[in-house]
Amino acid sequence: MNFDSVKQFIKDSNLPAYRAAQVKDAVYKNAVSAWDEATTLPADLKEKLKKNFPLLTFTLNKIQHSKKDRAAKALLKLEDGLKIETVLMNMGGSWTVCVSTQIGCAVGCSFCFTGRMKFKRDLTWEEISDQVLFWLQYVKKENLAERISNVVFMGMGEPLLNYVSTVKAVKEISNPDRLAVGMRHISISTSGVADKFHNLAVDLPQVNLALSLHSADDEERNKIVPLNRKFNLETLQKALTEYIAMTGRQVFIEYTVVDGVNDRPEHIRRLGKWISGIKDNYLVHVNLIACNKARGEVTPEKTVKLFAKGLQGMNISVSIRKSLGNDISAACGQLAAK
Ligand code: SAH
Ligand code: SF4
Repeated sequence: MNFDSVKQFIKDSNLPAYRAAQVKDAVYKNAVSAWDEATTLPADLKEKLKKNFPLLTFTLNKIQHSKKDRAAKALLKLEDGLKIETVLMNMGGSWTVCVSTQIGCAVGCSFCFTGRMKFKRDLTWEEISDQVLFWLQYVKKENLAERISNVVFMGMGEPLLNYVSTVKAVKEISNPDRLAVGMRHISISTSGVADKFHNLAVDLPQVNLALSLHSADDEERNKIVPLNRKFNLETLQKALTEYIAMTGRQVFIEYTVVDGVNDRPEHIRRLGKWISGIKDNYLVHVNLIACNKARGEVTPEKTVKLFAKGLQGMNISVSIRKSLGNDISAACGQLAAK
């Protein structure tokens, strides 16, 4: 939904300005799923809107509900026929939406399902922000009590390789007049496109930045996150130091623990040492994620807890991220849109 173009259309049609306000309320407050549900609007305007301004830039192809977690995943069909996935989840409290920013991903991390797909294209800003609008409509339709309070850019794709649309989508999602999710409740996760950290600190200083590290050894990280060949660990250290100096914000390091790959005591030590090389590293918080593998297998909880304990022993602030919906392949790294 590009509300600015609807507003322009109303103006060009010489309709009174309050019509734009009514449309805005219908879309973002009442979260109507069809223009016909916008009862305050006159019939002829509804017809015009139906013809020219689809509420969403995609249609729902399939929705799946987790049996064990409060999580749902939607497969969405874009106008060109390509498909993406988006997730709604609740860890207790309000809802979090996980959005995709690209179809497929060119980075190709070793354990990521999206990375195994071929990169098809970037999403437009509308296709990104519409994922939040889609879930807003869903929450309304299903009469769910809690509101959507958080948005994470952790679905399919690398947000910082689709920088312009990502920034525009964040602005749309956080616009208090529209989707109204506070910037501080929005998180961008990146595999480490270090040359965009500076821009991010300027353009969206309030948004949370999460860096997917997974290894603090260049040779090993080259294999897990191939982008490391372009932006290595030293480059990332410098970029994070500058980012923290510019924003004064806490930053997050994501570390997916894969048993037998990056879970040994030496990995803990190396990670601790790498973090100590960041200035103001008291602002660095580590999120550990158990790796989701094929057939619903995950890294054992015990392994992840041991890793956390090791980091705590080095005075590093750490938590274990809950990953919801692996029974419907909605958990971290499982989105693929087959
Ligand atoms: N491209 C961005 C954002 C999407 S991935 C990035 O890589 O950060 C979101 C998070 O899920 C990343 O931290 C990613 O490393 C992690 N992830 C990928 N595959 C996973 C898997 N199989 N199990 C657990 N986490 C995974
Ligand atoms: Fe792309 Fe992120 Fe998956 Fe890596 S983890 S392949 S960057 S989506």
